[in-house]
Amino acid sequence: MRLFGSSGLRGLVNVELTPILAVKVGMAVGAFIKAGKVLVARDSRTSGLMLENALVSGLQACGVKVFRLGILPTPVLAYLTKMLGADAGVMITASHNPPQYNGIKIFDRNGMAYDEEKQKEVERLIEHEKICFADWQNLGEALTIDKGHLYTKTVLENVRLNRKWHVVVDPGCGATSQIAPAIFRDLGCKVAAINAQFDGFFPGRSPEPNRETLQYLAETVKILGADMGVAYDGDGDRVAFIDEKGVFVDFDKALAAYATYTVKKNGGKDRIVVTNVEASMCIERMVEALGGKVVRTRVGDVYVAEAVRKFGAVFGGEPCGAWIHPQHHYCPDGLLSSVLMLKALEEVGKNLSELIAQVPTYPVLRKNVPCKNEIKHAIVERAENQLKTCFPNYKDISKADGIRLTLEEGWVLVRASGTEPLVRLTAEGESLKVVKEIMEKVTKVVAKVVEDFEK
Ligand code: MG
Repeated sequence: MRLFGSSGLRGLVNVELTPILAVKVGMAVGAFIKAGKVLVARDSRTSGLMLENALVSGLQACGVKVFRLGILPTPVLAYLTKMLGADAGVMITASHNPPQYNGIKIFDRNGMAYDEEKQKEVERLIEHEKICFADWQNLGEALTIDKGHLYTKTVLENVRLNRKWHVVVDPGCGATSQIAPAIFRDLGCKVAAINAQFDGFFPGRSPEPNRETLQYLAETVKILGADMGVAYDGDGDRVAFIDEKGVFVDFDKALAAYATYTVKKNGGKDRIVVTNVEASMCIERMVEALGGKVVRTRVGDVYVAEAVRKFGAVFGGEPCGAWIHPQHHYCPDGLLSSVLMLKALEEVGKNLSELIAQVPTYPVLRKNVPCKNEIKHAIVERAENQLKTCFPNYKDISKADGIRLTLEEGWVLVRASGTEPLVRLTAEGESLKVVKEIMEKVTKVVAKVVEDFEK
């Protein structure tokens, strides 16, 4: 039984993810860490408190002492788990997914998301109902605590801004709604905030920040003449930027620009940055020009975080805006990323559009093909031979995550989504014409495989 995907457990509320499952996860975590101390936080979803109550119940039943932090971003929960010496941290969130979804993500005592092995162990405990109930005198306590300010304090101790930046913050009514505008104010910025109240219906925009959903933020930045717009996903581990001209900053370019800045700041030569198989090749072009190196992993922040630690990388990030700053911690942190971006601009003496203009443009096209969870992996497997036939002159093939073919003038990737019922297609080329041709061919191949499969 697989409950956990690349970003923890995720599902439709009261369909796939019920309080019954949440109580089981609580009991399994209690059994896994053998009682101990657990922090629990949630994002702003309507189902958050319901699932939290069930999960906390399961933890208490197994003798775990629970500290409830209320609504906080995922990176803050991860940070506090380590800082407060808890045995685990549990975050109730479906990240950027629509409001009818929720999920559970578990962090270890170091603030690292549970890897595949640990997730499988928790799954096994749930499946076999290997639960160790505490007896009545030893049930766990559940205390509500307010500790978000400890995270803010650490950020303020580590980042000092000299300029009074004018920033428009768009938390999208998610978990960063209170803490993000507050941090920028504490840093001395002039702050305007939109969609900055908790609301599980996400009335302002989708919890997924992207070019389409951030149009209002982009307009606001332009009208106010601000220096930068920042937006986060539902749980605040991802960030998206709007430059001072009110233009949405391409995710791949933001990633490459910031990675390059970090490599340079750390001495350049032999410095490593980590990204996933989906990211644009512009990151290699820039980092390698400085003598640095790019390591690519499977998609999923858990894999990026593991590689960052293993290779001693100076930075890691995915093109969805989930960036890891290992000098601070190993959880992707949208809040920290946005603050550090301002610091970077200050250090290089550029505004955001100028920093981004240094990144070469290779057009990337991404497309999602809806495909049931049960068959998405089989579809990708079956696509392999057809893709090879379709691109007979491919130069290299990688199966680190899905099927990735390196072509003469670009590359193509077909992979099953870790969290959603989708097969994701990504293509990149030296020119728009090339990438469009690649995408057209791949789309046909995958559509055909899906059609044949369903016959
Ligand atoms: Mg997220």
